[in-house]
Amino acid sequence: MNAQLLDGTALSRELRQALAVRAAALTARFRPAGLAVILVGEDPASQVYVRNKIKACADVGIRSEHHLFPATISQDELLSRIQQLNTDPAVDGILVQLPLPAQISSERVLESIAPDKDVDGFHVHSMGSLMVGRQGFVPCTPAGCLALLDRHAVAIEGRDAVVVGRSNIVGKPAALLLLQRNATVTICTSRTRDLASHVRRADILVVAAGKPGLITGAMVKPGAAVVDVGIHRGADGKLTGDVDFESARAVAGWITPVPGGVGPMTITMLLANAVTSAERRLRAA
Ligand code: NAD
Repeated sequence: MNAQLLDGTALSRELRQALAVRAAALTARFRPAGLAVILVGEDPASQVYVRNKIKACADVGIRSEHHLFPATISQDELLSRIQQLNTDPAVDGILVQLPLPAQISSERVLESIAPDKDVDGFHVHSMGSLMVGRQGFVPCTPAGCLALLDRHAVAIEGRDAVVVGRSNIVGKPAALLLLQRNATVTICTSRTRDLASHVRRADILVVAAGKPGLITGAMVKPGAAVVDVGIHRGADGKLTGDVDFESARAVAGWITPVPGGVGPMTITMLLANAVTSAERRLRAA
């Protein structure tokens, strides 16, 4: 059996078309949705991520502002610039590209963003809302994982879901989203004893460990839905995930490719959060 592909490129295209319609309606009736993107320093990978986000905004009709600061900026200065954006009525979302330089506390910075502009969903307020099931921004990567499962009508309720990884930006929120949908959820970490025995029980497997090829087909339950969040660039320049794609696709029912799976969905969910934030402001106006 060859698994069905959970194609993030195709789903992103579809969702971005719908977002472009919502963004155009905002521009016509209110003002363009506005996203402020903050980049501190000149980390090349961060520059690429920011460029991609800004281009994606332009493609769907979201106005983006690029705030570039030198790596030497003080924490107080950065906090005061975020404060200005918090009160700027034309800004619906604020995104701070991580990592930040050592003299700046990411925690302090992320928590200085107004929760109603926290389109990355990293503020403790957003995390807490997710924990108790209240409305708030959901982190983009796990939201993208769920959107892929839903698009392919993968049943979640009552199923065994295993999340490999417990980071605040992927693993934990992915587990909470699956729990909200009434899956029975197990979270595995680097300290888990006998990872394979847990993974083998998964009807839905979300892997966000940051370890290339950690999960092989031999560990996958036949017919499972496998969502691979990992991204690694090999010595040959090719991108691979945390799952050994070829062996896993022979066993799984559904699987995300890398690239072209979760990656494009992350930016799409960011765009969705920005549009949703602007729509909330229009309703409150
Ligand atoms: P992280 O390093 O913050 O967390 C990794 C987690 O995996 C930790 O909780 C750790 O305990 C667990 N882990 C590590 N080794 C393990 C093992 N052998 N068995 C079980 N658990 C293990 O990473 P992160 O930020 O969550 O990112 C994970 C991966 O996802 C990375 O490859 C990252 O590049 C990728 N990522 C992709 C996207 C995307 O848009 N596709 C977004 C964010 C992260």
